[in-house]
Parts: sequence; C-alpha cells; structure tokens
Amino acid sequence: MRKIGITTTIPSEIIYSAGAIPVDLNNIFITSPIPNDFVYSAEKEGFPSTLCSWVKGIYSSAKSRDDLKEIVVVTDGDCSNSRPLAELLERIGKKIITFGYPFDRNRKKLEEHIFELLNYFGVTLEEALKTAYELDKIREKLDYLDFLSWHDGKITGLENHLWLVNSSDFEGNPKDYENRLDNFLKIAERRKEKKDFLRIGLVGVPPIFSDLYEYLESKGARVIYNETQRQFSIPNREGDFIDRYLNYAYPYSFTFRLQDIKKQIETRHLDGIIHYTQSFCHHQMEHVLLKKSVNIPTLFLEGDRPTKLDERLKIRIESFIEMIG
Ligand code: SF4
Repeated sequence: MRKIGITTTIPSEIIYSAGAIPVDLNNIFITSPIPNDFVYSAEKEGFPSTLCSWVKGIYSSAKSRDDLKEIVVVTDGDCSNSRPLAELLERIGKKIITFGYPFDRNRKKLEEHIFELLNYFGVTLEEALKTAYELDKIREKLDYLDFLSWHDGKITGLENHLWLVNSSDFEGNPKDYENRLDNFLKIAERRKEKKDFLRIGLVGVPPIFSDLYEYLESKGARVIYNETQRQFSIPNREGDFIDRYLNYAYPYSFTFRLQDIKKQIETRHLDGIIHYTQSFCHHQMEHVLLKKSVNIPTLFLEGDRPTKLDERLKIRIESFIEMIG
C-alpha cells in the first residue's frame, strides 16, 4: 500500500481516506532498537552535533525507508528546522508535501492548508470527516485510557505515553491498534486503584530518555498528564473538521497551550510539572512563560541523545520530587 511519512501530527484522516497509510517518522526513530545510529548517521552526512536529535532521527528514518516516497512536512507550527529538513529530504529523492498550522490560529489560513492537503490526496472534506468520525471511536477510548490514568491510577505514565504518542498515526493500522487498545483497557480496568503517588504533569515534546517514566515511578511519582502526547489524540473534537485542528493545541502559541495546561493542573490535581525540552530547540524559551504562569512547582529538564537518564539528571529529578513531596 502507498505509505506516507509524516514529521508530526497532521490530519491523518485525509491520508487514510485516500487509502494510504501515514507513518510517523518520530516513532520509527525512537522505537528503533538503535536510535543513536540514526543520529550518528545524519551527523556523518554533515548534520551539526548542535542540532536537535529528533531532526536527525527523522531524516535518517525517512532515508532508511525506501517504501516512504512521499513525506508530509509541517513547515509552520511545528519545528524551526523543518524547512531545511524538507529540502534535505527532497535531495534524497523524497516527494515533499508541505502542511502548516498558522501561528495566529487563523481559521481561513488553516482551511487553505487543509484543502491543499485534501486536493493533493484527491479526497473531499466529507470523506475526511467520515474517516474522522470512525477514528473518533478510537479517540474516545483513548480519552477513557487517560481518565483511568489520572483519576484511578490504573495506568502508568509510560503506558499512557505510549498509547497516546502512537495515536498520531495509529501505527498505520487503526483497526489493529483499536483491538490491542480494547484488550489493554480490559486488563487495566481489572487493576486496583492506585493513588499513593505524587502527581506529575509532563509538559513539552515527548522525552527522548528511555527510562524517565520508570525512574519517576521508582521515586514515588507518576506522570498522569502527558501534555503533547494527549494532544496527538485530538482530545478536543467539537465542531467541524477545521475546528478540531484549530483546537489541537501543540502547534500553536505557548499561550494557547497554557489554557489546557492550567485546566489540567486543576482537573488532575497536579503536584508539579516537569517541562521536558530538547537541546537546541526553540521550545526551551517557553519555560519562562510556563514558570510565570502556573502556581505549582516546575522542573526544567533537557535531553539531547536517545539514552537513559544520567546521574546528574536523576539527582535533579529526585530533589524535585522531595521538594514537592
Ligand atoms: S524538539 Fe524542537 S527542534 Fe527538535 S524536532 Fe521538536 S520542535 Fe524541532
């Protein structure tokens, strides 16, 4: 089947409506048994060491997959490096389709981008909306999974992260994803409620560390709010097709994202927030806005390569947990 690489969450309903399969390149990179090799391979080609590892990982993941001939690159609202990345991908023979989320959340501009994507894939808005309603059945189950995480403590931070992060493309097979989700929810429902942990919100891009969630759990804290991963599941689905991607908070301003962050602090009774950002990423500046805007403790955590937490980071996390505890 025709497979389409994507560099971040886009209206995947359009790709599925075209009978094609979206493949999230971030997930190919980070779930690879050798993610560091992807980073080194890009560096061998000349990518600077002072560049975000996700960008290098996305590039190498796309390069490693001959079956991904077309790639949708989000050039507005995602990553400041995405435009040169698009050019580099074009240079290795990929067909680039650009998409954008306007910074000012202007409905007309977003509508134009969505219609360009619809036209490229030869899909009508009605067809995309029909697929959206089908995918919404899975998204409703993800809402429930998220509820079991923060309300009942029946799902670990890592489990919550994995299910939600993979909802960007439903791992290329929504039916199969849904079946596995149904089985997982049955198991989770039978677990005992657990509430004896410090309640952590993880704000920012998905962490590149492989053991952050487990380390927090080992110290008596649990992530019960994965901000960005939750957004991938399009939790605000009111209105029409355009509305759902206007309410998808991640690609817009941090001020807009803060509305949801503040709401979730209250709803989930968060004790503290870990703000994860990637080295060399523009999102780091947003920590200033976060600190000035929320009334609970925050910890700024930075990661570079796909690896485990080092001792220095573990000490900082432990001190933070002790402080909020
Ligand atoms: S972490 Fe930042 S620099 Fe890296 S890909 Fe994401 S937005 Fe771009």
